[in-house]
Amino acid sequence: MTTVNDATITQHVRVYGHHINGQSTPPSDRLIDRNAPADGSLLAQYSAGTRADAEAAIASARAAFDSGPWPKMTAMDRARVLLEVARLMRENTDLLSRIDAEESGKPLVFARGDVETSAELFEYAAGAAMTSHGEAHTGLGEDCTALVVREPAGVVGMIIPWNFPLLLLSQKLPFALAAGCTAVVKPSEFTSGTALELARIAEEAGVPAGVINVITGFGIETGAPLAESKSVDVLSFTGSTETGRRITEASAGSVKRLSMELGGKAASVVFDDADLGDALDGVLFGVFFNNGECCVSGARLLIQDTVADAFIDKLVAAVSRITVGAPLADGTEVGPMISPEHAAKVLGHIEQARADGAVVRAGGAAIEGAGNYVQPTVLDGVGELTAAFTQEIFGPVLSITRFNDVADAIRLANATEYGLAGSIWTKNIDKALTVAHGMQNGRVWVNTTIDGGPQLPAGGMKQSGFGREMGLAGFEEFTDVKTIQIRTGARNRVFPNWVGGGE
Ligand code: NAD
Repeated sequence: MTTVNDATITQHVRVYGHHINGQSTPPSDRLIDRNAPADGSLLAQYSAGTRADAEAAIASARAAFDSGPWPKMTAMDRARVLLEVARLMRENTDLLSRIDAEESGKPLVFARGDVETSAELFEYAAGAAMTSHGEAHTGLGEDCTALVVREPAGVVGMIIPWNFPLLLLSQKLPFALAAGCTAVVKPSEFTSGTALELARIAEEAGVPAGVINVITGFGIETGAPLAESKSVDVLSFTGSTETGRRITEASAGSVKRLSMELGGKAASVVFDDADLGDALDGVLFGVFFNNGECCVSGARLLIQDTVADAFIDKLVAAVSRITVGAPLADGTEVGPMISPEHAAKVLGHIEQARADGAVVRAGGAAIEGAGNYVQPTVLDGVGELTAAFTQEIFGPVLSITRFNDVADAIRLANATEYGLAGSIWTKNIDKALTVAHGMQNGRVWVNTTIDGGPQLPAGGMKQSGFGREMGLAGFEEFTDVKTIQIRTGARNRVFPNWVGGGE
């Protein structure tokens, strides 16, 4: 039986306005209550922004891009500021991690990890700014030289989900800033605190007013205007595939560049020649990390039939030892779901899986009492056409399906509409590479899971989206390529009268 670790959250209610042009606006008349996932108590109130608020934020970012100093500063100067942001983020680890843990329900230890990883992303982006350069082409003939330069893409709209409020913003913001762009950030209505705090911290570090603007509110009121506006050049979205489709439609009239980081249904593929102890740890971490509310969560275990029964017995025993509890309590491994509605949705998925013939080997129910708690759950015998296999549950729920050989494993791994990530557990390098090449995912891990580094791009295939974040590919998303071709000699024009008025 799963135990509940019920330390109480101490708190004061934070009340926020938007952050526009270097100023915190007064909180609006209409506020969004953020109630703690752990016990329902009021944590914070955020302004429910309007279209007018979104337009004010866009105008501020536009002015900062068109006539402010940031895009024209040397890359070295921008890099210095980004390094200072990273330093100040670390100095504010207690504040930032506490806000994210309280608001999202993730265990504090993971929220602290998110702050560290976010600071590293700012440092890496500083390096990308410093080393960024273009190309010179000298093979076009002796009177011709061409330059291919990268310029900042302009105003970037960033729409962020609730599961990694600071980290997912940090997969976008420092890269856009490094390129010389300005930003309008729309955090999730559930977890807006750290975006507002980060804007303040960044300005303390030297980012000029107007470069980072944050508007809070619901998606349709404050997110959709970013998609529709012709003053926003790039829209970088992370969230569900369903919302991604709506944003894609809303942006059509403004012809802007989009980056879509959408949903996933990752598989952990465990072969019988794996180090099964490592694989067990990896499968557990892969599915229960961040309460299972993770786009790259290893929500499906594909296990080779030769070792399946023994592996699953050990897994079920380990799941019964997981400590579920309040995000700020010592020892918590899995926290509450983001909202009561989301917990009900996760439980609905479990019921549907039962009805579809899956066997609940662990968990399978809510945890009684205050808070949006769902027991860590293991579903065995999940059929490949059922919802528990194909749909994103986004909670602490593992679906298990058996396979018999490499081809079967690849087929099952790809048998959803998503293509975000997957993990492979085997000591056979030929097998690992065959499966890695066969997986239709933006990221594949071998003998590890939910791993990474700021150098490594992330993004999706299929219905998990397009565009890449992090690494040099992530930096380049926020640049425009311009070709400058220079003729140095007199040119033999084919149609002399057509050019320059026929001189
Ligand atoms: P969501 O799609 O409901 O919301 C994401 C953001 O979009 C929020 O800020 C929301 O206010 C905004 N939004 C909603 N409707 C909008 C609209 N019509 N126009 C503009 N903005 C709108 O997602 P969520 O529930 O916050 O997050 C969970 C989802 O995010 C999961 O599907 C998960 O897989 C996905 N996700 C993907 C990645 C990735 O890197 N691919 C990372 C984390 C989460």
